Amino acid sequence: MLTNDELAKWDRESFFHPSTHLGQFARGEAPQRIVTSGEGVFITDRDGNRLLDGFAGLYCVNVGYGRQEIAEAIADQARELAYYHAYAGHGSEVNITLSKMVMDRAPEGMARVYFGLGGSDANETNIKLVWYYNNILGRPEKKKIISRWRGYHGSGLMTGSLTGLELFHKKFDLPLAQVIHTEAPYYYRREDSNMSEAEFTAHCVARLEELIAAEGADTIAAFIGEPVLGTGGIVPPPAGYWQAIQKVLDKHDILMIADEVVTGFGRLGSMFGSDHYGIKPDLITSAKGLTSAYAPLSATIVGQKMWDVLTRGTDEYGVLGHGWTYSAHPIGAAAGVANLKLIDQLGLVKNAGETGTYFWQTMREQVGGHAHVGEVRGEGMLCAVELVADKDKRAFFDPAEGKGAKVVAAMLKRGVIARAMPQGDIIGFAPPLCLTRQEADQIISVTKDAITEVLG
Ligand code: PMP
Repeated sequence: MLTNDELAKWDRESFFHPSTHLGQFARGEAPQRIVTSGEGVFITDRDGNRLLDGFAGLYCVNVGYGRQEIAEAIADQARELAYYHAYAGHGSEVNITLSKMVMDRAPEGMARVYFGLGGSDANETNIKLVWYYNNILGRPEKKKIISRWRGYHGSGLMTGSLTGLELFHKKFDLPLAQVIHTEAPYYYRREDSNMSEAEFTAHCVARLEELIAAEGADTIAAFIGEPVLGTGGIVPPPAGYWQAIQKVLDKHDILMIADEVVTGFGRLGSMFGSDHYGIKPDLITSAKGLTSAYAPLSATIVGQKMWDVLTRGTDEYGVLGHGWTYSAHPIGAAAGVANLKLIDQLGLVKNAGETGTYFWQTMREQVGGHAHVGEVRGEGMLCAVELVADKDKRAFFDPAEGKGAKVVAAMLKRGVIARAMPQGDIIGFAPPLCLTRQEADQIISVTKDAITEVLG
């Protein structure tokens, strides 16, 4: 067996890690962690640390680590049929079963599910379907996509453009011209502190209306949004936001894409965020929670209105020219079937609602009063603690001080993983949906101690 030092050296010299500071990593100046195993909400690394994963990997290991039922389903499928493609009407029992299970759980009005590999490719699929749809309807100029600042929709060319975070654009020549951004529904960061939530919702709607008027509704194809902003800061929407946005989209015949990569399959305490907030999407993007990341798989769920036009399109123009080699991969599908069964058996959607709410409400009680905690917010099994230099003014710390990252590092020393969100000093939590109250209490007490250590 390789020693830890040998492995670490190979890692620094061979492995191009995603979302990593490349130079620092290669020089051995950046954190390096070699993970060996996981059980429940804990992971273990090569240095013998056992860490409570308060972010479920990247908000994806929803059923927790080490689930033998899923591991066995994957192994059985690999032995029986590791792969066959899904082009031209080919399927296997496992991916057909998963399609039925997804549609049984999908919000009302959905017609079919298209399987890909991850959230980014599912959103690429969505945008292609939206463009195809408008071409079939004879309105080729209706193509722009509205996304929100602070939205996260992936790292590809189109999906990185949809993502409304500077880090994902800078020096990549993004966003692409077809993408336009509107204001984030981020109540805590409203400019006018006297605005009520309802007034702030009206303000966001007015900004959207202005953008549509400036660009022309006949040039805008779709609006994409996460039910709760995720990577942009874990921000639940202000009261009435989705109903009001939906009205504007309906008025201008703009399609609604609900990006449920984080919220799909239970994280908010409802099967989908669209059900949770009464969103009526034309397309739903999902990935992470579909397999709890035991294997890569995404699902684009297509509404009836779009499905009717897509089938019309292939009647007129032939086969839909869109597919991945690994679409509906049987091993991903096996993980999906076993995972969705487990979510039902363990009552994890209910637990996400109940224990999740306990978690962020208790976090609010325990750390919300600190002089440098501006806001503690949450919904279901999502929570964020936003740090500020001055509470009354909601003033940011100098980003160079890296206060959020320092708190997260202080938490790690105490055995708990949280995530320093990429924009602002925001500490994010998205634990596995099987979190217990006792584990929630452990995260909260560690957060409190770490904040005290770093900020006094
Ligand atoms: N959409 C959302 C809302 C996400 O949170 C993510 C990933 N964090 C993606 C899309 C992209 O998914 P992936 O990383 O699997 O491509």
